[in-house]
Amino acid sequence: MKSCTTVLTAILTSILAIAVSAQRGGRGGAPGQQGTPTPPGPPRVEELKKEVAADIDTMKVATQQMVDQVFSFGELGFQEFETSKYLTGILEKNGFKIERGFAGIPTAWVATWGNGKPVIALGSDIDDIPQASQKPGVGYHDPIIEGAPGHGEGHNSGVPLNVTAALAVKKIMEREKLPGTLKLWPGVAEELVGAKMYYIRAGMFRDVDVNLFAHVGSNLGVSWGAGFGTGLQSIEYTFTGESAHAAAQPWRGRSALDAVELMDVGWNFRREHLRLQQRSHSVIVNGGDQPNVVPPNASVWYYFRETDYPHIKELREIGDAMAKAAAMMTNTEVTSRILGAAWPQHMNKTVAETMYTNIQTIGLPKWEDADVTLAKGIQRELKQPQIGLATQIGQLRGGLDPEQNMGGPSDDIGDVSWNVPTATLGYPANIPNLPGHNWANAIAMATPIAHKGVTAGAKVQAMTIIDLLMRPELVQQAWDYFRNVQTKDQKYIPFISDKDQPALWLNEKIMQKYGPEMKKLYYDPTKYKSYLEQLGIKYPTVR
Ligand SMILES: [Zn+2]
Repeated sequence: MKSCTTVLTAILTSILAIAVSAQRGGRGGAPGQQGTPTPPGPPRVEELKKEVAADIDTMKVATQQMVDQVFSFGELGFQEFETSKYLTGILEKNGFKIERGFAGIPTAWVATWGNGKPVIALGSDIDDIPQASQKPGVGYHDPIIEGAPGHGEGHNSGVPLNVTAALAVKKIMEREKLPGTLKLWPGVAEELVGAKMYYIRAGMFRDVDVNLFAHVGSNLGVSWGAGFGTGLQSIEYTFTGESAHAAAQPWRGRSALDAVELMDVGWNFRREHLRLQQRSHSVIVNGGDQPNVVPPNASVWYYFRETDYPHIKELREIGDAMAKAAAMMTNTEVTSRILGAAWPQHMNKTVAETMYTNIQTIGLPKWEDADVTLAKGIQRELKQPQIGLATQIGQLRGGLDPEQNMGGPSDDIGDVSWNVPTATLGYPANIPNLPGHNWANAIAMATPIAHKGVTAGAKVQAMTIIDLLMRPELVQQAWDYFRNVQTKDQKYIPFISDKDQPALWLNEKIMQKYGPEMKKLYYDPTKYKSYLEQLGIKYPTVR
């Protein structure tokens, strides 16, 4: 499926590849521009940043418990009920005002604390991946519950990172009487790119000055500008025909499944003549009931990905035409609905440069031998280079030439990035060289690798918040880039209409099936120091 996975790995890899080709004399513009890390602030700002980072070190146990707890919930998109209840509970206890059910999405919320400007939003995703159940700390495929969902993307770690950062900054804001508002929000159903455009429609970012996003990766990093990855529209086509006895009187039937198959065949022929940048993929969500009944209804679900708004729109229009043609061929009717969408990302230069300075200060966690052994174990298992864990932070990069963008993953943080200055902090809670959206990406996510990576990320996030609270010129510069560079020629146009509604029913049945078994294994921090201990796993376990 979708999105961002190893987004950072993928993006960084492609950025590096493109940057290299650009240096070899690529086309004009400014591909692969180097950013300039923001210089340090006044001494008082730097002192408080140092203090907040030190404080986050004292919060390690609470951070670890949050990471492990959300890992054990393992909830799919739009079904993040336990996760949201737990995280809002912590924030509420710490004085945040919670608005639940935001934008008509039961698992969405906004947690606000503080007063006045600037308003700093902190977001990260919370949903997981179908069939990715995996024992943490075990370097080969070993599901906790066979067939169940699991955090095979690492979305259990981002909101715990933001909560840690926010609580540490809040203490300093209270003591120093710093004006400003912190606003935490969860990326519900990111794997379905299902929620963020509805957040925007409901006004979540209307009063926000800067949005800091966090996404799990295998290194500490941040980039700015456009020109990597894709955006997408997620569309379900449903065909309606007429049932009949498939052997006795097949001529009386009109097969909706025939229409789905013809649409897929048509699309796959057309694929040769689409731009190289596009990515499109589909699953048949309803292919009929049984062979002796001509299927009266059938549905196919497409992701149409392209690198900019006009091309995404065009690709979906080709899909619509293909569906209409398949309906004509089979004498069936077709309807479609939008299940999700994402704009291509464009991250803010000033925000990324400010974040990068703090990344340089914090650097990577100190990995233990056990951490590296686990990483090499799964890399060996997957026949990938056994490089272990990241040992050197990446470069600050941005501003690629869009013509050189050869596609890739998407993330609906893209929509947010076109509404308010935004940057995504990548933090090293996972292992390099994994496939993404897979059980292997869950292995590290409730182990010391994730715990240390989240603590490092929380420090960077907290320091960046302090920069933005105390240095108003940075917020102003961020908006200057947003208004006069990023959105100068291209404004945000939502992919959804006023009438479209979030696809809240998705994943409901899967969670009904596996939820009761998973519930028995929720992490209990009152009895066990870690989820590894609760599951009785020796760390690391490798072949
Ligand atoms: Zn993700």
